[in-house]
Amino acid sequence: METHRRTIALYVDFRRSNDTFGAIEEALIMNELPVILPLGKNNEMLLENVHPHDWINPEPASLYNLVVIGGGTAGLVTAAGAAGLGAKVALIERNLLGGDCLNVGCVPSKGIIRAARALHDGKTSAEFCIAGGEQLTIDFAAAMERMRRIRAEISPHDSARRFTEELGVDVFFGEGRFSGLDSIEVEGKRLRFKKAAVCTGARAAASLIPGMEETGYLTNETVFSLTELPERLAVIGAGPIGSEMAQAFARLGSKVTVLGHLNDHILPREDRDAAEIVQQAFIREGIELFLPAKILRAAKRNGKKVITVEKEGGMLEVAVDEILVGIGRTPNVEGLNLEAAGIAYDPLLGVKVNERLQTSNSRVYAAGDICFPYKFTHTADALARILIANALFMGRQKSSALVVPWCTYTDPEVAHVGMYEKDAKDKGHEVLTLTIPLTDVDRALLDGEAEGFARVHLKKGTDKILGATIVARHAGEMINELSLAMTAGLGLSAIGRTIHPYPTQAEAVRKLADAYNRTRLTPFVKKVLGSWLKLMRS
Ligand SMILES: Cc1cc2nc3c(=O)[nH]c(=O)nc-3n(C[C@H](O)[C@H](O)[C@H](O)COP(=O)(O)OP(=O)(O)OC[C@H]3O[C@@H](n4cnc5c(N)ncnc54)[C@H](O)[C@@H]3O)c2cc1C
Repeated sequence: METHRRTIALYVDFRRSNDTFGAIEEALIMNELPVILPLGKNNEMLLENVHPHDWINPEPASLYNLVVIGGGTAGLVTAAGAAGLGAKVALIERNLLGGDCLNVGCVPSKGIIRAARALHDGKTSAEFCIAGGEQLTIDFAAAMERMRRIRAEISPHDSARRFTEELGVDVFFGEGRFSGLDSIEVEGKRLRFKKAAVCTGARAAASLIPGMEETGYLTNETVFSLTELPERLAVIGAGPIGSEMAQAFARLGSKVTVLGHLNDHILPREDRDAAEIVQQAFIREGIELFLPAKILRAAKRNGKKVITVEKEGGMLEVAVDEILVGIGRTPNVEGLNLEAAGIAYDPLLGVKVNERLQTSNSRVYAAGDICFPYKFTHTADALARILIANALFMGRQKSSALVVPWCTYTDPEVAHVGMYEKDAKDKGHEVLTLTIPLTDVDRALLDGEAEGFARVHLKKGTDKILGATIVARHAGEMINELSLAMTAGLGLSAIGRTIHPYPTQAEAVRKLADAYNRTRLTPFVKKVLGSWLKLMRS
């Protein structure tokens, strides 16, 4: 038996590069103990759950039904589900159980977005005749600590002890590495399997901008360790992560500049008019946008980080205190020795799987960010369930059958499900697109949240929903009704028949159904109905 001890290097490197690295932290690292910065009771509680200091890896069983590498959402759901059905399961995690979502993704980001929104609402409360809102301030360090407290409070669900004691999973901390077609090694121990699951996720893509390594920059792996608000912040990348963080930090008080190196607009994947509503909110809130921006280099000068940008033929410099990079995700394929197990992969796209999530080694499956283009916690969860059925119970479930919604948690939020109009047309569908502005929804007006719209794409001549986009403050909640309809094969008419409480913002979705019904009132149908009613009057 051996105690597994290692350093959580990501958090540490950032503090070192910023010269704020403390003696206690140094001591922990010297002793090779895991650490999540900043030190404090909340992060200690988190660590106690997701990578306990005193963890002793178990002796491996002679053979496992399933060995799972990676303890993020995909790995945890796979391990818990399989063990719950009676399988002998081993779970290997090299860093923190809970993966990105709990530790450096969804949970901390939504924690600080909420604080930023509370401050923004207070500051803009004059609309509701509340005086003095503009004077409000926020204690940034305390708001970050609130986020860390909630993260720690959520963490028992993903904890090593829960997985071991309640679910009966053998939890190993260490780097998992294939040693053959049916075996994986971790910390010098060999785990033999009937089936294995690669759930190693993805990480922030590194910046290749000259000078950035020397200048130092934040990613999602380090930004939630901040204890001081950067006075000026540059955000490189205008996709969902960059946009969410840009708005949150701007609202918390940073002067934010967004540099979207590839696109001329934020949230380029979304409908242009949907993203434009958010972009206008950014501009109103004082966020500076360089879109597109050709970033030439970065350098440290007089205590500032200076980014040189080529714009419209000229050069300009942006001097900031911190740079946050959110330019995409790189799959964690390195170090797994996938070759030894005959598992095909692409360094940029991840492990290759078929629709049933099986890799080129028929014993090995994959789920989550490591193999799927839609990199979300809820898709990692859904794929894990498919993986269990297919790997352990000869299931035939397909990932292509999933109806995948997502939401970007800017204000307003942008949520989407299914196809965009262009995708639907590319697939040969004739499309009827209907849009209801939120100004048509009484509750949105009353709430002062009437910026946005609900949009649905229907297969022309039917009420079959092909896709939908909602831009609204609560779009992430509102999209679920449309996702349910698509999953259950219900048409938009079913939503039209569903009574929605008045006044709610979800009435926007019912109004889409009313709009659809109006399209069915063709001149011919109207004439027939008119004749009938005339007859009734005679
Ligand atoms: C800032 C940010 C905000 C986000 N917000 C949202 C959101 O609001 N909603 C949403 O749905 N999604 C969000 N996401 C995406 C979401 O976090 C991911 O899609 C999700 O975490 C994927 O889960 P996963 O299990 O596939 O991978 P991960 O969570 O990355 O877990 C993989 C795990 O495998 C481990 N691992 C890797 N290699 C090895 C190895 N060789 N041996 C052992 N262990 C290994 C890693 O340490 C990691 O713990 C966000 C992401 C970021 C970065």
